[in-house]
Amino acid sequence: MKNIGINGYGTIGKRVADAVSCQDDMKIVGVTKRSPDFEAMTAVEKGYDLYISAPERESQFEEAGIKVTGTADELFEKLDVVVDCTPGGIGAKNKTDIYEKIGLKAIFEGGEDHDAIGCSFNAESNYEENLGKDYTRVVSCNTTGLCRTLKPIYDLAGIKKVRAVMVRRGADPGEVKKGPINGIVPSTEVPSHHGPDVQTIIKDINVISMAELVPTTLMHMHNVMVELENNISTDDVLDAFENAYRVIKIKKSLGIDSTAAIMEYAKELDRSRGNMYEIPVWEESVNVQDGELYYMQAVHQESDVVPENVDAIRALLELEEDYEKSILKTNKAMGII
Ligand code: NAD
Repeated sequence: MKNIGINGYGTIGKRVADAVSCQDDMKIVGVTKRSPDFEAMTAVEKGYDLYISAPERESQFEEAGIKVTGTADELFEKLDVVVDCTPGGIGAKNKTDIYEKIGLKAIFEGGEDHDAIGCSFNAESNYEENLGKDYTRVVSCNTTGLCRTLKPIYDLAGIKKVRAVMVRRGADPGEVKKGPINGIVPSTEVPSHHGPDVQTIIKDINVISMAELVPTTLMHMHNVMVELENNISTDDVLDAFENAYRVIKIKKSLGIDSTAAIMEYAKELDRSRGNMYEIPVWEESVNVQDGELYYMQAVHQESDVVPENVDAIRALLELEEDYEKSILKTNKAMGII
């Protein structure tokens, strides 16, 4: 049973903590918080030992009646791997300032740059490359979504070129200080960072992306166009998505006609926090015409990367050599379709 800690118990960190807790080869030893807020309170109520990453605030936790087990540094000493879920940029600093100094393996999230961490991770695409590494980065929610559906197509038919248009949520549901609340905000940098980020995982794929922010909090949406090397049919693609890990086909004809309906579907599945770990692809949108594949998919930004973190832990600790065995083990424990 390997000892895992979460540094930064926020949107991603709290979900990764729960995902690790339901595996039988790893356990959560503790989670860190900076502020004595409701997430700190519920972490303790759930049974997680809470360590503080701002020790000077210990009295604030005492005043709030939230039990603290120790400091973040004390937690790090007990761990085989830390999953760093702090806001973008802090993880890379923690790598050099803390983890490298104490020889602690660490997993980072998509807010960090690939170059600062040295390796990136997507379970189905490059698990083997991560075996035994000290540090890796689970790529962002959008990059994870693109890798999940592009890798099976790449393996099946080869890819000449991908063009992807990313319609991105403006903020997570709990965030009130971010926007936009009115208007669409184009990212005028072309390609957007998503295409190059896919290339940190599927090295020789030719992919160009464009992105814009829209006033929604629920999910991202991707419109994907793929020039294929070899001719395949729409049915071949549907079969490939059927067999891909953590991809599900959804039907507009069944009333799943928006990202809001997908979130409602996740609730119907009784998913914790309404999570949708899989990448839903609209079956009706999948279409091959003149050697080019078109499809539309959605990404639940708060949860699609969560199972990838569990597999990344197995890869770094070499708990499982075979990526498919790790994926299946994680999926079974988390109830992933
Ligand atoms: P968040 O703000 O919800 O949570 C971050 C947590 O880290 C908070 O609890 C915060 O208090 C804590 N924290 C801040 N500074 C800290 C420090 N110095 N030491 C320890 N803890 C600290 O952020 P998030 O959305 O969970 O994002 C975390 C990472 O995951 C980022 O790299 C982000 O880019 C990535 N990510 C986010 C999403 C998303 O949509 N939310 C999706 C995929 C990946």
